[in-house]
Amino acid sequence: MDTHTDPPSGRPLRVLLIEDSQSDAELAMWRLKQAGYVCTFRCVVNEIEMRAALRAELPDLILSDFSLPGFDGMSALAVARAEAPGVPFIFLSGTIGEERAIEALKCGAIDYVLKSNPKRLVPAVERALQEAALRRTSQLAERQVARLTRVLQMLSGINSALVRIHNRDEVMAETCRLAHGVGGYTIAMLALIDPTTRMARPVGWAGYEFLPRPEQEFPVADHEAGDTSLMGRVIRTGEAVLCPDVGSFPGVIHGRDKLIAAGVRSLACLPLRVDNTPVGSFLCGTGASAVIGQDEMLLLEEVASNLSFALQYLDKQDALHFLSYFEPLTGLAKRALFCERLSRLLMRGTGTLPRLEVTVFDITHLSVINDSFGRHTGDRLLQCVADRLKAHFPDTEQLAHLGGGTFACVNASREHADAEIRTLHGDVARAFARPFSVDGREIVAEIKSGVACYPDDGHEANELVQNAEAALKEAKTSGERYLHHRIEMNSELARRVGLEQRLRTALDEGQFLLHYQPKITLHTGRIASVEALLRWQDPENGLTSPAVFLPLLESAGLMAATGAWVLRQAASDCRAWRCKGLPPIRVAVNISPPELRQRNIAGEILEAIGDLAGDPAWGIDIEITEGALSGDSSSCVHALRLLRAAGIRIAIDDFGTGFSSLGRLSELPIDTLKIDRVFTGRLPLDRRSCTLVSTIIGLAHAFDMTTVAEGVETQVQLDYLVREGCDESQGYLHSRPLPRAELENWLVGVGSAATGGSDLRSARA
Ligand code: C2E
Ligand code: MG
Ligand code: MG
Repeated sequence: MDTHTDPPSGRPLRVLLIEDSQSDAELAMWRLKQAGYVCTFRCVVNEIEMRAALRAELPDLILSDFSLPGFDGMSALAVARAEAPGVPFIFLSGTIGEERAIEALKCGAIDYVLKSNPKRLVPAVERALQEAALRRTSQLAERQVARLTRVLQMLSGINSALVRIHNRDEVMAETCRLAHGVGGYTIAMLALIDPTTRMARPVGWAGYEFLPRPEQEFPVADHEAGDTSLMGRVIRTGEAVLCPDVGSFPGVIHGRDKLIAAGVRSLACLPLRVDNTPVGSFLCGTGASAVIGQDEMLLLEEVASNLSFALQYLDKQDALHFLSYFEPLTGLAKRALFCERLSRLLMRGTGTLPRLEVTVFDITHLSVINDSFGRHTGDRLLQCVADRLKAHFPDTEQLAHLGGGTFACVNASREHADAEIRTLHGDVARAFARPFSVDGREIVAEIKSGVACYPDDGHEANELVQNAEAALKEAKTSGERYLHHRIEMNSELARRVGLEQRLRTALDEGQFLLHYQPKITLHTGRIASVEALLRWQDPENGLTSPAVFLPLLESAGLMAATGAWVLRQAASDCRAWRCKGLPPIRVAVNISPPELRQRNIAGEILEAIGDLAGDPAWGIDIEITEGALSGDSSSCVHALRLLRAAGIRIAIDDFGTGFSSLGRLSELPIDTLKIDRVFTGRLPLDRRSCTLVSTIIGLAHAFDMTTVAEGVETQVQLDYLVREGCDESQGYLHSRPLPRAELENWLVGVGSAATGGSDLRSARA
């Protein structure tokens, strides 16, 4: 028996059948039971019964016939959407035409199974249940993220209070107010010890309406048996305490009964320190719906450490602005504080530690994420990254946010070996292995890093950070994921600035050129079209790949002008081929998100394409990335509709890695999905990639889109794609991207017939 996706609590699967034929209903249930499902079912035949059934008990799955006497499947679907939106809905019918089936999918049905092909029922149900289970998990995660977001907002509010307010007691009172009002804590209190009397005085509190005198002082014992309160114990020991359940916590809690009566369920209490001595404690508590977890505890530690830092300055009456040391968005140290900490470490460490490593790393596509989803999402991503880093490097003194998408960390190591660096880089990379869930989107953040070590790469904090940054810049230019600093890199940095300068002249001096890579129609084995790929004939370094210079073009603000050149050149090549009498071919051009967001991009594209627009055999198509269409993209969608009306086909590039939902894509003016080469590369052995590829192909077809597999390198990959019904294939198996003249020869030679002919034929057979 196969493994199954079970309902949430392990109880039997509840199925609601909308079916007038008793025997069909029983047959369906028999099939599910045969496949190993333990299920209960209820059968209804009209709308009144259906609504009553949904209100009495939510099912895990709805199976519905398409036409019943006095009721119909589409109305049942509408009722299900309204009354039970999260429950998967599958049509099980003898009479559903393809058009109606697509209509049904568009209206929110998960699948449809023909009664004439009942074998599909079990896989369809299994897929629907899997998707529902996934949705449940991600909703749970979203709730957790929402809670942590509130705490982060509180952290950032407290940080700005620390800048604005210079009176110690006012800072403490404001902190508690923010914890209660913004962080959502039921109670919050801050107390400081008077070292001469060993009495602690509450200096800020919120949510304590149930206590007659919250300002009352309390003693701090000097041994465990003398503890009379949790806050006192934390000041005594200097150790944070997490108490998940006030009722059952074994340690001492002052006023436990009153807290329980006030609805406080879990508590966290953290020490505040000055010069490593505990001087106070910060207590906060949540109500019944939330238990404070480890992630949240890390954020609270951050609050406590920032308050401690503030106390240090406020106590010394120092006018220094606290926040000039911290990045308000993430609460991490800025460069100045990081370097100060690093200097201290160097002073302490030189005797005992042979080596200190400073890693500076940068989120590769932050500007694309900002462009595509808006700054707000970019900012939230940075906060999530900071959270993740704090979880990986519990000592936040090791971390810094240097600005933008750039972070730093420091590590002390005893070994003098390259392997160590790789481990630290690995630590950082592991923190980025999972995607980040930001405002309901899964965002994959890639990083590049540069490393500098004491004593080889510098003796002073500033020097080490600068050299790690130089290594990072070099890593970005060379495409490496991480690089260790070399002396030459300081001159590399100068070289990079020069490179940007040279790219400015590359356009004027005609150093850019296009290579073309064929795409093959799998059904006929013929060349369907080609993709134009930009190359730079760099006079110093020869032919250079876009991975190297596209980011530089972007940072130098040259993307729009270069994109316009690519369009004009592709159109002009296309016209030249038509004049030469070559077999007709369409040319796809890549359009970057910033280009797509330009005002009047549709006008510019149409002008460049000129008379080629509207010719179905010849012409220009475009490839855009998923990211460009997320967030507020109404102006882009408008531009795409104009282009499509002019006969330009629109493909989503690198599909599957990103952010879109297929449901949303079906509403957009899109003709083709290009399956990312990451997935093609893992075919046919990796099950997840296989499922993803088949699903993309199946659903694309349901929405009248075609599919192109990118990066096809082997015959087995091609065989798999042909079997799954993929429409087109692009990759080294057929041809690498070719210079224009070579492509022309190739077109003349094959007369647009198949390449790798025998491969394709055997695949089709
Ligand atoms: P893309 O649009 O996804 O282009 C496909 C990339 O995959 C190309 O890399 C191509 O050479 C490579 N490729 C094709 N077949 C295979 C294969 O079988 N195996 C492997 N490993 N790779 C394969 P290339 O030319 O380096 O371009 C990289 C990216 O740069 C493109 O990805 C595209 O996003 C961007 N790009 C290229 N030209 C332009 C342009 O004119 N404008 C803009 N905005 N972006 C461009
Ligand atoms: Mg492309
Ligand atoms: Mg691609």
